[in-house]
Amino acid sequence: MQTCKKCGSGQIVKSGVVAGKQRFFCKECGCNFREGDARTSEKVAVKKALCVLLYAMAKCSFRMMGKIINTNHALVYRWIRAFGESLPEPAVSGGQSAFKFDPPSALNSDPPARLT
Ligand SMILES: [Zn+2]
Repeated sequence: MQTCKKCGSGQIVKSGVVAGKQRFFCKECGCNFREGDARTSEKVAVKKALCVLLYAMAKCSFRMMGKIINTNHALVYRWIRAFGESLPEPAVSGGQSAFKFDPPSALNSDPPARLT
């Protein structure tokens, strides 16, 4: 029995066919999803891990990573962003929770006098 991929509910109905695969509609959360969705395959997981490594260690651009793994650069950006958001907040030593930023003194000074 199929369950909703978003909320896990069993109250789903068939909702047409997309790209040759059955699509379902969840009555609980209103989510549409396909059966056999291949977006979470092992191949994609390896590509995601490679992209995160390339971004973190080699400062590779999103477009270059997309070319390397033959994927759209916007998808690479979303993978890395989702990975970054899944990380916990970094711990700051010394109990400091905020930093105060002092702009350069040139920005604080009065504007130069106008020449008349
Ligand atoms: Zn649902």
